[in-house]
Amino acid sequence: MQEWLNDLSSLIYPEFCLHCQTTLLDQEHNFCLHCLVGGFSAAHPPKNIPWIKQQLPLPKRVSNVFSLFEYHKKAFGSTLIKQIKYHNKKQLGFASGQWLGAHLNKSKGFNKIDYIVPIPSHKNKLKTRGYNQSEIIAKGVAYALNKPVEFFKLKQSFKPIQLGLKRIDRFVNAYQSFGVLTNQKLMQRHILLVDDVITTGATLDALVKHITKTHHLNISIASLAFTPNASSI
Ligand SMILES: [Zn+2]
Repeated sequence: MQEWLNDLSSLIYPEFCLHCQTTLLDQEHNFCLHCLVGGFSAAHPPKNIPWIKQQLPLPKRVSNVFSLFEYHKKAFGSTLIKQIKYHNKKQLGFASGQWLGAHLNKSKGFNKIDYIVPIPSHKNKLKTRGYNQSEIIAKGVAYALNKPVEFFKLKQSFKPIQLGLKRIDRFVNAYQSFGVLTNQKLMQRHILLVDDVITTGATLDALVKHITKTHHLNISIASLAFTPNASSI
């Protein structure tokens, strides 16, 4: 009966692929099989890892960086992230986190992590969006790696990074406007910071600099995507 009702409702309200907009088949949800297969095969993590490290002026304490996709406007990965970020598709965020975690499980250097920590979101963003997408992704990663999730809280004085600044000024501005409350659990641990997409890396860089000073951590970083031309933004 339930199946029959589902079939009927899909005739009246067909579901479309979030990426290519074709009508989805019965067994498909959110994305068609064609887009999923294309999306999965577009992820080429090993070659991009040294590249991201080179792009970001991160302190030496960052031991591993990992990202699944290059972020291109019309690519599957960008549709996926936009859906997670702006369209309340939390289950996609969790599943993507699991996918990212499965890759980390196969990669060197990610087996000695103590905690999974999402990049904290500014309170204004939390207010408008209602959730932190990095936290949802981090929970998927934590599930795949069988590790606990822990959090950094931003100090109230933290302001969002100013737009329109030159790249170098943006990094200075990010560092100066940032503050992180102490989390005793994370002292001297090896943590995996999880982000949805690394763009300029200014926020990430500021966060890493602050927490290495205050918490004496070893840090690894993983994101679903990174912007390939970040240095020119
Ligand atoms: Zn599709």
